[in-house]
Amino acid sequence: MLLRRYAVCVFILAADPLAGQSPVGIPTPRSILGFNPGDDRKLADWPTLVRYYQALARASDRVDYREIGKSTLGAPFLAVTISSPQNLRRLDIYRRTNARLADPRTMRSNRDALAAVREGRAMVLITAGIHSDEVGGSLTLAVLAYRLATDTSALTRAILENVILWLVPSVNPDGVTIVANWYAKTRGTTAEGSDPPELYHHYVGHDNNRDWYAFTQLETRLVVDSLYNVWHPQIVLDLHQQGSNGSRMFLPPYLDPIEPNVDPLIVEATNALGTAVAWQLAAQGKTGISVNATYDAWSPARAYGHYHGAVRILSETASGNLASPVQVPFDRLQATARGFSPRERSWNFSAPWPGGRWSLRDIVTYQTDAAYAVLEHASRYRDRWLTNFLSLGWRAVRGWRGWPYAYIIPSNQDSIELATLLGILARGGVEIRTAQQAFTTGGKRFPAGSYVVVLRQPYAAFAKTLLEPQRYPDRRQYPGGPPERPYDVTAHTLPLLLGLTAIVANDSLRVPLSGPVAPPRATPGYPGFGDKAGPRVGLYRSFVASMDEGWTRWVFDTWKVPYLTLVDSVVRAGRLKEKFDVIVLPDQSPREIAEGLPQRRYPLPYPGGLGPDGIQALRQFAVEGGTLVALNEASRFAIQALLLPVRNVLEGVPDEDFYAPGSIFRIAVDQSHPIARRMPPETAAWFEEGPAFDVLDSSQVRIVARYPDDPSDVLLSGWVRHPERVAGRAALVEVRVGAGHVVLFGFRPQYRGQSLATYPLLFNSLRPR
Ligand SMILES: [Zn+2]
Repeated sequence: MLLRRYAVCVFILAADPLAGQSPVGIPTPRSILGFNPGDDRKLADWPTLVRYYQALARASDRVDYREIGKSTLGAPFLAVTISSPQNLRRLDIYRRTNARLADPRTMRSNRDALAAVREGRAMVLITAGIHSDEVGGSLTLAVLAYRLATDTSALTRAILENVILWLVPSVNPDGVTIVANWYAKTRGTTAEGSDPPELYHHYVGHDNNRDWYAFTQLETRLVVDSLYNVWHPQIVLDLHQQGSNGSRMFLPPYLDPIEPNVDPLIVEATNALGTAVAWQLAAQGKTGISVNATYDAWSPARAYGHYHGAVRILSETASGNLASPVQVPFDRLQATARGFSPRERSWNFSAPWPGGRWSLRDIVTYQTDAAYAVLEHASRYRDRWLTNFLSLGWRAVRGWRGWPYAYIIPSNQDSIELATLLGILARGGVEIRTAQQAFTTGGKRFPAGSYVVVLRQPYAAFAKTLLEPQRYPDRRQYPGGPPERPYDVTAHTLPLLLGLTAIVANDSLRVPLSGPVAPPRATPGYPGFGDKAGPRVGLYRSFVASMDEGWTRWVFDTWKVPYLTLVDSVVRAGRLKEKFDVIVLPDQSPREIAEGLPQRRYPLPYPGGLGPDGIQALRQFAVEGGTLVALNEASRFAIQALLLPVRNVLEGVPDEDFYAPGSIFRIAVDQSHPIARRMPPETAAWFEEGPAFDVLDSSQVRIVARYPDDPSDVLLSGWVRHPERVAGRAALVEVRVGAGHVVLFGFRPQYRGQSLATYPLLFNSLRPR
């Protein structure tokens, strides 16, 4: 009897809703896509996926379809809502209930709060495809949506009753098509399964997932403005893929360090949900699942939810080669990975995967089942999720012991920088007030109209995290060993990046404050560009897609700096001085610039890089009077290729002897140099694995900016080991070459569209001397 029941149970678990008869009128993904999501070597472009969700919403009263805006390249940006038909009819009521749970100041009494918890629904947001070469996510959500639209099991009915699910089938719709087209074009060739020779997000490629506080890109703004800030999800599942040779799927807990302003309740809930999903997948017999590995939770750039009441479950599933399957023998699995070994059983990797074939079907299956497990948890513990959500708000409004009372942001600072800072805080739901009279605090006098951010409000942690300097812990791979690499960068202090001051007020302010105010507005622009007399700027674009090239392009477009893009063939053809006054080489490794994509894999015109002809053409360009501007790692390329009388003091220095993986450094600027026009004598620069310079021939080289002589003055925010390696060294130099110049940046002056403090250095370097 027991056995028989077990057998039935297994049958149900294994039943594939795609294999059975479609309930009358509900379209299967196959009926629109032309294949089952997960079939080998099959991808859908974005218009086809859109058609599927439209058809599904037309046919099912459990599914709503809405277009919440347009992507960077004008594609429809979708949000699909799935819940019971009754819930969907009452969506607006649930939105209001949830907004009140998000801000406990709206509750009149405990009874009021209990009623809201009782009546509310768990809001879950699942996002896929922000990284478009992680092709499984967008297909997974089609499978999940179909399953939820058709399944009649008690579990699914409970999910539909208790949960309101928001699906974003792709956070980067443009990239779905870019990758699908590249895959279709190269299928059956040596380039099958390779990365496209362009960024899959028009501007920022993979960095589109590092924009969740700067909000520079349209897609980030759409998700924040139309989903996070309106529906206030308690749970966010973000579907990603990792390399092929690690675990089959990663789920939280995250590794340390966790950014210290994240509420402990978020951390506990993340740990609980991540391991609950891993538990569920293990019960289904899935192997190769890692938790508490590889990914930390330091940077707010990837975790809007952590500061807005939401647990963010990052799932990272092993990849194939786009839609092509891969063979991964057990002995090719990484011998070690951060936090575990994919070849050994451990508490956080309880069942190693034996190796073998890994296909898009595996990816879609793991992801669909993980998503379903998240929904099941949200449904089963709906009241707990809502109570937890309410508590998070209470704790933030009450304030945290040891936190300052407020930050004061003087209102007389540069307008575009101030507008950027306050705009970011406001978009993140932070209430900004103004002092209605002049006041004194901490011995300083502030005029009426000064901006005040009180750290007792629902999203206080978001404000504090972005306004304070970071002190990243000194982590090592083992005691006394080399530094342990953070998953992303270590600093995010906006006032430094923007060249502003924000002053801590530890005690309550004795001044009347206004109600929340809107941030000021300002239009980006820099004098000297846009007229006919402006410089003719060329921006080099490698086919080894460089995110920094995309960021530079975004900054130029946003700040209205005219430019033309140069690809390898144009540079190699030479006579560059006839067409350009300035050529910009974005941050990219010397090898990628010189050698480009491999000949054996990519078809023409993509492989080869600049090659000897391109290098010769750049040298000629400078000799004839052109200006070559090299950013960060590209400066190493310029030093080598043009044999400049400058030495990178960090060349070949191991991590043990110098380490700063994305930090904010102090620099002193020579204001008499034209590149330093409109700059203060001291500012903050984004340092990220860049060079630092020693001048070998001072008759040809002028130092425009340098690091402080005292090593303890170098770091402003983040992490550095052995700052004495760069103390007193040059950070920005201009080298005379023939009739022209080469400008070498040892930092990233336009870092991820955030470091407005150093934009003038970049813009000035483009202008004629
Ligand atoms: Zn990813």
